[in-house]
Amino acid sequence: LCAENQPFEMEVVDIHGVPTRTWKHLHQNLADLAVHASGHGDALLHIYADERLSYENWFRAVAALAHELRDMGARPGDRVALAMRNLPEWSVCFFATVAIGAISVPVNAWWTGEELAFALKNSGSSFLIADDDRWQRTAPHRKSIPGLTQVILARGERTDGTVRALEDMIGGPPDYANLPERGLPDMALTPETRAAIMYTSGTTGKPKGAIISHRNLVTNILSSKWATARAFIRAGQPLPEPAPKVLLTVIPMFHATALSAMLMGVLDAGHSMVFMHKWDPVEAFKLIEREKVNAAGGVPTIAWQMLEHPDREKYDLSSLESVSYGGAPSAPELVRRIHEVFGSSPGNGWGMTETTATVTSHSGEDYLHRPESAGPPVPVADLRITDPDGNDLPVGTVGELWAKGPQVVEGYWERPEANRETFIDGWVRTGDLARVDEEGFLFIVDRAKDMLIRGGENIYSSEVENVLYDHPAVMDAAIVGIPHKTLGEEPGAVVALTKGKTAGEDELKAHVRAHLAAFKVPVRIIFHDEMLPRNANGKILKNDLKALFS
Ligand code: AMP
Repeated sequence: LCAENQPFEMEVVDIHGVPTRTWKHLHQNLADLAVHASGHGDALLHIYADERLSYENWFRAVAALAHELRDMGARPGDRVALAMRNLPEWSVCFFATVAIGAISVPVNAWWTGEELAFALKNSGSSFLIADDDRWQRTAPHRKSIPGLTQVILARGERTDGTVRALEDMIGGPPDYANLPERGLPDMALTPETRAAIMYTSGTTGKPKGAIISHRNLVTNILSSKWATARAFIRAGQPLPEPAPKVLLTVIPMFHATALSAMLMGVLDAGHSMVFMHKWDPVEAFKLIEREKVNAAGGVPTIAWQMLEHPDREKYDLSSLESVSYGGAPSAPELVRRIHEVFGSSPGNGWGMTETTATVTSHSGEDYLHRPESAGPPVPVADLRITDPDGNDLPVGTVGELWAKGPQVVEGYWERPEANRETFIDGWVRTGDLARVDEEGFLFIVDRAKDMLIRGGENIYSSEVENVLYDHPAVMDAAIVGIPHKTLGEEPGAVVALTKGKTAGEDELKAHVRAHLAAFKVPVRIIFHDEMLPRNANGKILKNDLKALFS
């Protein structure tokens, strides 16, 4: 059904075959979804600090900006970069862009100017919509991005006459109620229309842009509805009546997981979404208490930090019904503790940018019984476990995970070689080592790709190693993950210096910080007297180097 992407009705039955709920699936593309969401009336879509934005006013802003972008010359297929923190404007800009068939390029808000400029050039973005910080970082690089012709600045001081203020175009969120009621521009969008390019760090150094279609994103809505229903049905419980919920989302919108969460849980269902400017456990407790948040979502690090915080008991967190996370390995102990401490249901899922977020989903009793698993696949996804030559392995054997389904992206933006390696006959090779049990539950065991995850942010070793190599004193360098209780891992470097040259730990850290986002900077650097140890194929023996940090 999802592959056809036709509007349809889904009837969910309980274990005795008694119908429990009918769901209408109406959206073929994201513009349909926006129109549907505008019908949630006065319900709140965004709560950000003291700003509250209703669905109705949100839609007015989306429609107004979509027309403005058309007037400025944005055409289907044009790339419109979005460099912004989790402001309410983020989703307004995203939807206005995709509603006119242009491609939104949400970039990582923690990136340095150099990294932002790379993504703008690589994606060939002609438009940039940025908040003040992101624009201040990008502006010094503007000359190196000749294709960038239009800059729209949100909540910032314009110092350059060529930059337009978003507020001059549609006002700020408090003004959206005064915008005229109007429809979206009439555009011929299909499920195949490209909606977004989302950057994911490539194993070969520079980030690669995964091209996400309207179908990919809409698929996530259907998958999530089904996965929620399945957890109740497997536990023999009736499906709860649909009721508006309040969700706290602390992960940044530029991650596929957060974007999908907004589409799935919010725009379709009419839930409220609470945003934070910056992750802070005490702020999160205050918001949960004040807004009576029902579900908090993010990465395992966030769940740990909430559990371990000494002030947790000072706040009333009794509204919390579920705490879910994905995007990084989580310890089985986390599942038990969330259930015990919050009395709420934990949830987990596996996915990656190349699969537009969710491919497996785990919650309820199933998760409590199998806390090591990332859950079974959503109904419109298939999994394979393969040997290094791509042959299927028997059930229960550990091998490389491949995934297929209408959520798998068409490929990377202008990277034919990487596409040939990664996307094969509709399958994506994930670089994760995993097994699947007889009942179809996925267990992520390790990674074949040279990557570590710090608090949900992926760090590809080669990207940081390449920057270290650029330092004149560095002869050899390796980045490895140092285990960390709440962050999961932190980057550590082992470096060998060129004979006769010197560089201290602080100097090398400052060198990395000048080029890459702060979360990628090694927290410790160990100096090695000679070239780093390698195997017969010349690969650095990273497991041996990891031991140096213990
Ligand atoms: P990203 O493209 O940034 O979403 O990162 C995707 C990668 O994060 C996957 O290939 C995995 O290595 C890791 N990952 C995502 N979800 C999980 C999970 N539930 N358990 C373990 N690792 C995960």
